[in-house]
Amino acid sequence: MDKIEITIIGAGVVGLSVASHLAESGRNVLLIERHESFGRECSDRNSEVIHASIYYPPESLKGRLCLEGNELMYSLCSKYNIPHANIGKLIVACNKEEDEKLPGLLETAKNNGAKGVRIINQKEINNIEPNVFATTAIHCPTSGIVDSHKLMQFFEVNAINHKTDVLYHHEVIAIEKKTNSYKITVKDDDNNISDFETEILINCAGLGSGYISELAGIDIDKYNYRINYAKGIYFRVNKQLEKYPKMLIYPVPPAHARVGIHTTPDLYGGMRLGPHDFWVDKIDYSVDDSKHEFFLDSVKSFLPFIDFNDFYPDSSGIHPKIQKPGEPMQDFVIRHESDKGLAGFINLVGIESPGLTSSPAIGKYVLNLVNNL
Ligand SMILES: Cc1cc2nc3c(=O)[nH]c(=O)nc-3n(C[C@H](O)[C@H](O)[C@H](O)COP(=O)(O)OP(=O)(O)OC[C@H]3O[C@@H](n4cnc5c(N)ncnc54)[C@H](O)[C@@H]3O)c2cc1C
Repeated sequence: MDKIEITIIGAGVVGLSVASHLAESGRNVLLIERHESFGRECSDRNSEVIHASIYYPPESLKGRLCLEGNELMYSLCSKYNIPHANIGKLIVACNKEEDEKLPGLLETAKNNGAKGVRIINQKEINNIEPNVFATTAIHCPTSGIVDSHKLMQFFEVNAINHKTDVLYHHEVIAIEKKTNSYKITVKDDDNNISDFETEILINCAGLGSGYISELAGIDIDKYNYRINYAKGIYFRVNKQLEKYPKMLIYPVPPAHARVGIHTTPDLYGGMRLGPHDFWVDKIDYSVDDSKHEFFLDSVKSFLPFIDFNDFYPDSSGIHPKIQKPGEPMQDFVIRHESDKGLAGFINLVGIESPGLTSSPAIGKYVLNLVNNL
């Protein structure tokens, strides 16, 4: 291969959005992915929620990019017919103790700029979602759902239409800094090894983003780039579906930056519950029945009609977290690593939720970083 201008590692929703934005601006882009197609990891294993930017510390990248991503997502989806629905969300309090937590959460949401958020009473809740029990709730009118696969397809087609080369079945296994470029070594599915040079390197490797940082020569423990795995499991509802809410229903968030088990309707009439998140040491997407009772107990307070036999184990995803167990939420890392002696290396690490919502805004943000190199 000749020398490439920009190489992006990872064809999840973030790498694809970055490729789409860079290619559209006239840049010469190569996108490398180890799997046979896009979205085989986080981006096809999530709740597909367009978040409203409720939970994040003000001024955080998560808060800013989620808010901007929310608006960009709706306009992008409308313009290019990407399936989505602005169904809104309720964060429901089911007792006095939870009622008292809502004003603080509302303030965080308002500080983040989330539009139209307000606390509503039981009567209003009954009017909009009669089968949901709650004493009070935060109504988030800008929350919604999107078909994440179709979104990725849009970004990929747009990138390719603007001359991006997409190389599947290739895993990046070594990175060497040269004077004004990076030598990238890749391995294909038959273990053939090859290499090429790129002027700019962008790490969008999701669960592999810590490892890619390490390959580039960064001490990932010193800079807190090591990726910890939190597995999120879902159960699928297959009975009494007509009783389930049309909106997204979330509990008041439990501790340690979790949003709690929520209803996850999709655009095609399906309904999941989850995710329930817990720390794991390795990537394993299997889901067994051991948390069935736990799911029932978690959602029964706001879905009182639910029955044990309504749902069964379904799917899972793994959150790429730089947060360690017991720590508070950490922000996205999106930065040019020139201060680490890595001019031309743009690093995206810990792009967990709301990474899907933020993806159109992340594409713009990275384009800006590249334009300022
Ligand atoms: C359970 C769960 C629920 C979520 N729910 C939501 C939600 O409702 N709303 C929301 O906004 N966000 C949500 N998220 C977060 C969102 O899914 C992620 O932030 C987003 O998908 C991250 O995209 P990505 O492109 O960074 O990562 P990925 O989609 O994981 O893509 C990274 C890609 O890099 C590739 N790669 C890695 N290493 C290499 C290598 N060495 N060589 C070549 N390729 C490599 C991988 O194969 C992968 O395809 C959720 C996440 C999870 C896990």
